Amino acid sequence: EFLTRPPLKRRDELGRLGQEIYYMSTEIRNHISGMKQFIGNVSHEFKTPLTSIKAYSELMELYPEDASLAEDAVRHIGAEADRLTEMVDKVLRLSSLEKYDFEYRPERVDMAGLLLDLIGRMKAKAERYGVELVPALTPGNAWADRESLIHIFMNLLDNGIKYNVQGGTVTVSNREAEGRSVVEIADTGIGIPAEARERVFEPFYTVNKDRSRSSGGTGLGLALVKQLTEKQGGTVELLTRTGPGTTFRLFLPLRPPSRNHSNKELV
Ligand code: ADP
Repeated sequence: EFLTRPPLKRRDELGRLGQEIYYMSTEIRNHISGMKQFIGNVSHEFKTPLTSIKAYSELMELYPEDASLAEDAVRHIGAEADRLTEMVDKVLRLSSLEKYDFEYRPERVDMAGLLLDLIGRMKAKAERYGVELVPALTPGNAWADRESLIHIFMNLLDNGIKYNVQGGTVTVSNREAEGRSVVEIADTGIGIPAEARERVFEPFYTVNKDRSRSSGGTGLGLALVKQLTEKQGGTVELLTRTGPGTTFRLFLPLRPPSRNHSNKELV
């Protein structure tokens, strides 16, 4: 049929096709360069703990009799190994989401119940940091994958504790607004400087490498939070506010998407 069409029409169609191919190839090129950058970052981030593990093992080889060095080395090697394990876990999660084979089973989730449970799980860590977790919860549901929500809120609570100050608080509140479930995690900690606000959701980005590393950070937590939230039709934002501390706000769907509407139209 294409061959029997008048040449002018054919040229039009070929032009459109060419344009589409051009856009697709640009998208693929961008995707590949993003992946290359991600792999570069992963390798770089993995090297740091590996270098440290190697250095400590060499020291132990050099001074086999030094008991206090051995004690120190074992502690450091253990901590670096934990960090590597956490990084592998998060990188795997991030990359499997990218491939869209992330298994997610949305269901009606009792948000106040879930958040209270997670606050309970984080209590011991909060106490170690001298931080108080304050629930300000109201009954309400969201339509979401429970496992993803656990990862999201554990990461946000963990950050609220890690980047806090002695005697600080992390307040967890929820409500329904504009047909969505809204959760806020607000801490009284060190805050995020204005110039870093745009970047904190990028994989491997950390405001202060030393502080993040010393508290077992990987720079992957918020990237995962963002990706997991968006995969279920939600959004996450960092609120701009004056004064100390940081507040993250999440919007999640209240109900399953209806068949005739896209997620966007529903919320
Ligand atoms: P990390 O594993 O380093 O905590 P995240 O991806 O969770 O990585 O966070 C990225 C960076 O954003 C952190 O290294 C930290 O500098 C900053 N950040 C995240 N949450 C907070 C918070 N609640 N208060 C202050 N800074 C934060």
